[in-house]
Amino acid sequence: MKETILLRVNAEDPELEKIKIAAGVIRRGGLVAFPTETVYGLGADALNPEAVKGIFAAKMRPLDNPIIVHVADKEDAYKLALDVPESARKLMDAFWPGPLTLVLKASDIVPKVTTGGLDTVAIRMPRHKVALALIMESRRPIAAPSANLAGRPSPTLAEHVIRDLYGRIDVILDAGPTNIGVESTVLDLTSSPPQILRPGGVTLEDLKKILVEVVVHPAAAAKSEVHVEHARSPGMKHKHYAPKAEMIIVEGELNSVIKKVKELAEHYVRAGRKVGILATEESMCKYDLGIVKSMGSRRDLASVARNLFKLIRELDDERVDIIIAEGVPPKGLGLAIMNRLRRAAGYNIVEGR
Ligand code: AMP
Ligand code: MG
Repeated sequence: MKETILLRVNAEDPELEKIKIAAGVIRRGGLVAFPTETVYGLGADALNPEAVKGIFAAKMRPLDNPIIVHVADKEDAYKLALDVPESARKLMDAFWPGPLTLVLKASDIVPKVTTGGLDTVAIRMPRHKVALALIMESRRPIAAPSANLAGRPSPTLAEHVIRDLYGRIDVILDAGPTNIGVESTVLDLTSSPPQILRPGGVTLEDLKKILVEVVVHPAAAAKSEVHVEHARSPGMKHKHYAPKAEMIIVEGELNSVIKKVKELAEHYVRAGRKVGILATEESMCKYDLGIVKSMGSRRDLASVARNLFKLIRELDDERVDIIIAEGVPPKGLGLAIMNRLRRAAGYNIVEGR
């Protein structure tokens, strides 16, 4: 077991002496978990192959799943990538710093372990002050996937990181809850038209304001498992976000969703199973069986995104056997939310009617 140092930092005004400790660890090839505006990341020096291997080992992450490289300056993207198209500059100007990751042709300085063996590199400039301070003090681009054990829900609190990775990494920077709660949007600019490989914090609708044409990869919006052997984003084919409990998503128009969730809850409670329900503000009062949690309001999908992973972990902690979750319309942030819910449930989807 490693000794893990836990440092509380101010999210708005990070204490420089603490950031310096963490940056020193990055520079020496160590592993630091840090907050971003999306979820907590597990960072290492992106240009040091041994350090990046450490991320895969700590997370038990499959080696073919590449890692996003985080920068604190747009110009760094031009060192890490080749043939950067004009559209990338427009997107950076519109959305960086922020939850948009750009997949570009990788330059030679990026180790193969960072790109999972691909000839592309995924780059983003996060908005969180702690993340930016850490990258700047390290004077290195930082490779960072979500700071959870592979397959588990992404961490939106330092407590989640502690739960999964304490004793496996060097430092955890705790700056409280993350703001967005779902990961960044991964946009592939090496395909034509540009393709969303993973819906996230920046929506399809947002991207359409900048790009003439943009499409969503079929697997990213799928309601059932899509065969992605040759996927542009290998993360799509790995098990992800999964609770320990079995999970069912009920999709459709709200009234029929409520009816179906009730039916399922009754069925499983009668069968002696402990049931958790992920509902919304508008619907939670309709349920009187099981442990009912509200993800947030249907009129404010940002609140749903923010709470999603935390609530899945809470229901696991309460040892429910089965989680029944309401779906939301896959528009705006709803597309990212449904992508996470469907994958968390292993595409165990029921249509309410
Ligand atoms: P996570 O590890 O949870 O932070 O997710 C990172 C996501 O970015 C995964 O879905 C990866 O497959 C994807 N990704 C990282 N690098 C690349 C790349 N070079 N090309 C395509 N997708 C990538
Ligand atoms: Mg992840």
